[in-house]
Amino acid sequence: MRMRVIILGAPGAGKGTQAALLSKELGLAHIASGDLFRQAQDRGDELGAIAKSYMEKGLLVPDEVVIKMILERIAAPDCIQGFILDGFPRTLEQAQALDQALSANGIDQVLYIEVSDEELIRRLSGRWLCRSCQAPYHMINNPPRVPGRCDLCGGELYQRPDDAEETVRKRIEVYMAQTMPLIDYYGKMGKLTAVKGEQDIDAVSNDMLAALGRGEGPGEWG
Ligand code: ADP
Ligand code: ADP
Ligand code: ZN
Repeated sequence: MRMRVIILGAPGAGKGTQAALLSKELGLAHIASGDLFRQAQDRGDELGAIAKSYMEKGLLVPDEVVIKMILERIAAPDCIQGFILDGFPRTLEQAQALDQALSANGIDQVLYIEVSDEELIRRLSGRWLCRSCQAPYHMINNPPRVPGRCDLCGGELYQRPDDAEETVRKRIEVYMAQTMPLIDYYGKMGKLTAVKGEQDIDAVSNDMLAALGRGEGPGEWG
Protein backbone atom coordinates (compact mmCIF):
# COMPACT_ATOMS: atom_id res chain seq x y z
CA MET A 1 0.00 0.00 0.00
CA ARG A 2 1.33 3.43 -0.93
CA MET A 3 1.98 5.69 2.06
CA ARG A 4 3.03 9.34 2.02
CA VAL A 5 3.86 10.75 5.42
CA ILE A 6 5.02 14.13 6.69
CA ILE A 7 6.81 14.47 10.02
CA LEU A 8 6.32 17.90 11.59
CA GLY A 9 8.09 19.22 14.64
CA ALA A 10 10.45 21.89 15.91
CA PRO A 11 14.22 21.66 15.41
CA GLY A 12 15.37 18.89 17.74
CA ALA A 13 11.93 17.27 18.18
CA GLY A 14 13.24 13.97 16.81
CA LYS A 15 12.07 14.12 13.17
CA GLY A 16 15.27 12.67 11.73
CA THR A 17 15.54 9.95 14.36
CA GLN A 18 11.94 8.85 13.86
CA ALA A 19 11.93 9.18 10.07
CA ALA A 20 14.90 6.80 9.87
CA LEU A 21 13.13 4.20 12.05
CA LEU A 22 9.80 4.51 10.20
CA SER A 23 11.40 4.35 6.78
CA LYS A 24 13.16 1.14 7.75
CA GLU A 25 10.05 -0.37 9.31
CA LEU A 26 7.72 0.59 6.45
CA GLY A 27 10.16 0.37 3.53
CA LEU A 28 9.60 3.99 2.47
CA ALA A 29 12.09 6.55 1.18
CA HIS A 30 13.31 8.98 3.87
CA ILE A 31 13.60 12.49 2.46
CA ALA A 32 15.20 15.08 4.71
CA SER A 33 15.47 18.59 3.28
CA GLY A 34 18.24 19.62 5.70
CA ASP A 35 20.27 16.50 4.82
CA LEU A 36 19.89 17.27 1.10
CA PHE A 37 21.22 20.80 1.70
CA ARG A 38 24.15 19.55 3.79
CA GLN A 39 25.01 16.98 1.09
CA ALA A 40 24.90 19.74 -1.54
CA GLN A 41 27.34 21.74 0.60
CA ASP A 42 29.67 18.74 0.90
CA ARG A 43 29.63 18.36 -2.88
CA GLY A 44 30.42 22.07 -3.16
CA ASP A 45 27.66 22.83 -5.65
CA GLU A 46 25.60 25.99 -6.12
CA LEU A 47 22.52 24.72 -4.25
CA GLY A 48 24.76 24.11 -1.24
CA ALA A 49 26.23 27.60 -1.38
CA ILE A 50 22.79 29.23 -1.57
CA ALA A 51 21.44 27.13 1.31
CA LYS A 52 24.49 27.68 3.54
CA SER A 53 24.01 31.45 3.74
CA TYR A 54 20.53 30.94 5.24
CA MET A 55 21.23 27.85 7.33
CA GLU A 56 24.12 29.40 9.21
CA LYS A 57 21.85 32.27 10.32
CA GLY A 58 19.06 29.91 11.38
CA LEU A 59 16.79 31.22 8.61
CA LEU A 60 14.75 29.25 6.11
CA VAL A 61 16.10 28.73 2.60
CA PRO A 62 13.75 30.51 0.13
CA ASP A 63 10.60 28.58 -0.76
CA GLU A 64 11.28 28.34 -4.51
CA VAL A 65 14.68 26.71 -3.91
CA VAL A 66 13.37 24.14 -1.42
CA ILE A 67 10.21 23.38 -3.37
CA LYS A 68 12.12 22.66 -6.58
CA MET A 69 14.59 20.40 -4.78
CA ILE A 70 11.87 18.37 -2.99
CA LEU A 71 9.51 18.02 -5.94
CA GLU A 72 12.39 16.66 -8.02
CA ARG A 73 13.36 14.28 -5.24
CA ILE A 74 9.85 12.82 -4.74
CA ALA A 75 9.57 12.17 -8.47
CA ALA A 76 12.41 9.62 -8.21
CA PRO A 77 11.55 5.90 -8.64
CA ASP A 78 12.24 5.03 -4.98
CA CYS A 79 9.28 7.24 -3.99
CA ILE A 80 6.63 5.37 -5.98
CA GLN A 81 5.67 3.27 -2.92
CA GLY A 82 5.59 6.42 -0.82
CA PHE A 83 7.92 8.52 1.28
CA ILE A 84 8.52 10.12 4.64
CA LEU A 85 9.19 13.84 4.50
CA ASP A 86 11.41 15.12 7.32
CA GLY A 87 11.81 18.90 7.49
CA PHE A 88 9.55 19.71 4.54
CA PRO A 89 7.15 21.50 4.27
CA ARG A 90 8.12 24.30 6.67
CA THR A 91 5.90 27.12 5.32
CA LEU A 92 2.32 27.34 4.04
CA GLU A 93 3.67 28.09 0.54
CA GLN A 94 5.67 24.84 0.62
CA ALA A 95 2.64 22.86 1.82
CA GLN A 96 0.47 24.30 -0.92
CA ALA A 97 3.08 23.58 -3.58
CA LEU A 98 3.28 19.98 -2.37
CA ASP A 99 -0.51 19.56 -2.45
CA GLN A 100 -0.60 20.93 -5.97
CA ALA A 101 2.17 18.65 -7.18
CA LEU A 102 0.54 15.53 -5.71
CA SER A 103 -3.02 14.75 -6.72
CA ALA A 104 -5.90 15.35 -4.29
CA ASN A 105 -5.43 13.35 -1.05
CA GLY A 106 -1.76 13.09 -1.94
CA ILE A 107 -0.53 13.10 1.65
CA ASP A 108 -1.88 10.31 3.85
CA GLN A 109 -0.72 11.33 7.33
CA VAL A 110 1.03 14.17 9.11
CA LEU A 111 2.67 13.17 12.37
CA TYR A 112 3.42 16.07 14.69
CA ILE A 113 6.08 15.43 17.35
CA GLU A 114 5.45 17.70 20.36
CA VAL A 115 8.43 18.67 22.55
CA SER A 116 8.88 21.62 24.96
CA ASP A 117 11.39 24.39 24.14
CA GLU A 118 13.70 23.56 27.06
CA GLU A 119 13.94 19.95 25.90
CA LEU A 120 14.62 21.05 22.29
CA ILE A 121 17.61 23.05 23.47
CA ARG A 122 18.92 20.15 25.57
CA ARG A 123 18.59 17.82 22.60
CA LEU A 124 20.25 20.10 20.05
CA SER A 125 23.14 21.03 22.31
CA GLY A 126 24.01 17.32 22.63
CA ARG A 127 23.31 16.31 19.03
CA TRP A 128 26.05 14.70 16.93
CA LEU A 129 25.53 13.71 13.30
CA CYS A 130 27.29 11.26 11.03
CA ARG A 131 29.24 13.04 8.31
CA SER A 132 28.62 10.20 5.85
CA CYS A 133 25.02 9.05 6.39
CA GLN A 134 23.62 11.91 8.55
CA ALA A 135 22.34 9.55 11.28
CA PRO A 136 21.66 11.59 14.46
CA TYR A 137 23.06 10.69 17.89
CA HIS A 138 22.92 12.38 21.30
CA MET A 139 25.87 12.31 23.65
CA ILE A 140 23.62 11.44 26.63
CA ASN A 141 20.25 10.23 25.31
CA ASN A 142 21.40 8.17 22.36
CA PRO A 143 25.18 7.70 22.31
CA PRO A 144 26.94 5.74 19.57
CA ARG A 145 28.46 2.35 20.51
CA VAL A 146 31.96 3.62 19.71
CA PRO A 147 32.58 7.25 20.74
CA GLY A 148 32.78 9.58 17.73
CA ARG A 149 31.80 6.87 15.20
CA CYS A 150 28.49 6.10 13.48
CA ASP A 151 26.90 2.74 14.46
CA LEU A 152 25.49 2.33 10.95
CA CYS A 153 28.42 3.15 8.70
CA GLY A 154 31.47 3.89 10.88
CA GLY A 155 31.47 7.52 9.66
CA GLU A 156 32.87 10.38 11.71
CA LEU A 157 30.42 12.21 14.03
CA TYR A 158 30.31 16.03 14.16
CA GLN A 159 28.22 18.83 15.68
CA ARG A 160 26.27 21.08 13.32
CA PRO A 161 27.40 24.71 13.45
CA ASP A 162 23.73 25.79 13.52
CA ASP A 163 23.19 23.75 16.71
CA ALA A 164 25.04 26.49 18.64
CA GLU A 165 22.66 27.98 21.22
CA GLU A 166 22.02 31.42 19.64
CA THR A 167 21.26 29.86 16.25
CA VAL A 168 19.01 27.28 17.91
CA ARG A 169 16.98 30.07 19.55
CA LYS A 170 16.62 31.77 16.18
CA ARG A 171 15.55 28.50 14.52
CA ILE A 172 12.89 27.91 17.19
CA GLU A 173 11.59 31.47 16.67
CA VAL A 174 11.45 30.90 12.89
CA TYR A 175 9.66 27.60 13.50
CA MET A 176 7.02 29.29 15.68
CA ALA A 177 6.36 32.01 13.11
CA GLN A 178 6.59 30.12 9.82
CA THR A 179 6.01 26.42 10.47
CA MET A 180 3.44 26.31 13.32
CA PRO A 181 0.63 27.44 10.94
CA LEU A 182 1.00 24.05 9.21
CA ILE A 183 -0.42 22.33 12.30
CA ASP A 184 -3.68 24.15 11.73
CA TYR A 185 -3.47 23.61 7.96
CA TYR A 186 -3.18 19.83 8.19
CA GLY A 187 -5.45 19.68 11.26
CA LYS A 188 -8.28 21.21 9.25
CA MET A 189 -7.66 18.66 6.50
CA GLY A 190 -8.12 15.90 9.10
CA LYS A 191 -4.63 14.51 8.46
CA LEU A 192 -2.77 15.50 11.62
CA THR A 193 -1.89 13.25 14.58
CA ALA A 194 0.05 14.70 17.51
CA VAL A 195 2.53 12.39 19.23
CA LYS A 196 4.13 13.00 22.64
CA GLY A 197 7.80 13.56 21.82
CA GLU A 198 9.11 13.50 25.38
CA GLN A 199 9.26 9.76 25.72
CA ASP A 200 12.11 7.45 24.88
CA ILE A 201 12.85 6.95 21.19
CA ASP A 202 11.16 3.52 20.95
CA ALA A 203 7.97 4.73 22.67
CA VAL A 204 7.70 7.66 20.24
CA SER A 205 8.20 5.23 17.35
CA ASN A 206 5.46 2.94 18.60
CA ASP A 207 3.02 5.84 18.89
CA MET A 208 3.86 6.96 15.37
CA LEU A 209 3.40 3.47 13.93
CA ALA A 210 0.08 3.19 15.77
CA ALA A 211 -1.02 6.51 14.22
CA LEU A 212 -0.23 5.02 10.81
CA GLY A 213 -2.33 1.96 11.61
CA ARG A 214 0.78 -0.18 12.00
CA GLY A 215 0.79 -0.62 15.76
CA GLU A 216 3.15 -3.39 16.84
CA GLY A 217 3.09 -5.59 19.90
CA PRO A 218 5.47 -5.08 22.83
CA GLY A 219 9.06 -6.04 22.20
CA GLU A 220 9.13 -5.03 18.56
CA TRP A 221 11.74 -2.34 19.20
CA GLY A 222 13.45 -3.98 22.14
P1 ADP B 1 15.15 16.80 14.37
O1 ADP B 1 15.40 16.03 13.09
O2 ADP B 1 13.68 16.99 14.64
O3 ADP B 1 15.90 18.08 14.44
P2 ADP B 1 16.76 14.69 15.67
O4 ADP B 1 16.11 13.42 15.26
O5 ADP B 1 18.03 15.07 15.00
O6 ADP B 1 15.67 15.90 15.57
O7 ADP B 1 16.97 14.65 17.24
C1 ADP B 1 17.55 15.75 17.93
C2 ADP B 1 18.48 15.21 19.03
O8 ADP B 1 17.68 14.60 20.06
C3 ADP B 1 19.44 14.14 18.58
O9 ADP B 1 20.64 14.30 19.30
C4 ADP B 1 18.74 12.83 18.93
O10 ADP B 1 19.66 11.77 19.18
C5 ADP B 1 17.98 13.21 20.20
N1 ADP B 1 16.69 12.54 20.32
C6 ADP B 1 15.83 12.19 19.34
N2 ADP B 1 14.71 11.61 19.84
C7 ADP B 1 14.86 11.60 21.19
C8 ADP B 1 14.03 11.14 22.29
N3 ADP B 1 12.82 10.58 22.09
N4 ADP B 1 14.51 11.30 23.54
C9 ADP B 1 15.72 11.86 23.74
N5 ADP B 1 16.55 12.32 22.78
C10 ADP B 1 16.12 12.19 21.51
P1 ADP C 1 16.39 20.34 12.16
O1 ADP C 1 16.79 18.89 12.11
O2 ADP C 1 17.06 21.03 13.30
O3 ADP C 1 14.91 20.52 12.15
P2 ADP C 1 17.08 20.54 9.36
O4 ADP C 1 18.28 19.73 9.17
O5 ADP C 1 15.77 19.97 8.95
O6 ADP C 1 16.99 21.04 10.87
O7 ADP C 1 17.25 21.93 8.60
C1 ADP C 1 18.44 22.69 8.77
C2 ADP C 1 18.29 24.01 8.04
O8 ADP C 1 18.09 23.76 6.62
C3 ADP C 1 17.10 24.87 8.44
O9 ADP C 1 17.39 25.68 9.57
C4 ADP C 1 16.90 25.70 7.17
O10 ADP C 1 17.87 26.74 7.05
C5 ADP C 1 17.18 24.69 6.07
N1 ADP C 1 15.95 23.97 5.67
C6 ADP C 1 15.69 22.65 5.82
N2 ADP C 1 14.47 22.35 5.36
C7 ADP C 1 13.92 23.51 4.92
C8 ADP C 1 12.67 23.89 4.35
N3 ADP C 1 11.71 22.97 4.15
N4 ADP C 1 12.48 25.18 4.03
C9 ADP C 1 13.43 26.10 4.21
N5 ADP C 1 14.62 25.83 4.75
C10 ADP C 1 14.88 24.55 5.10
ZN1 ZN D 1 26.78 6.95 9.39
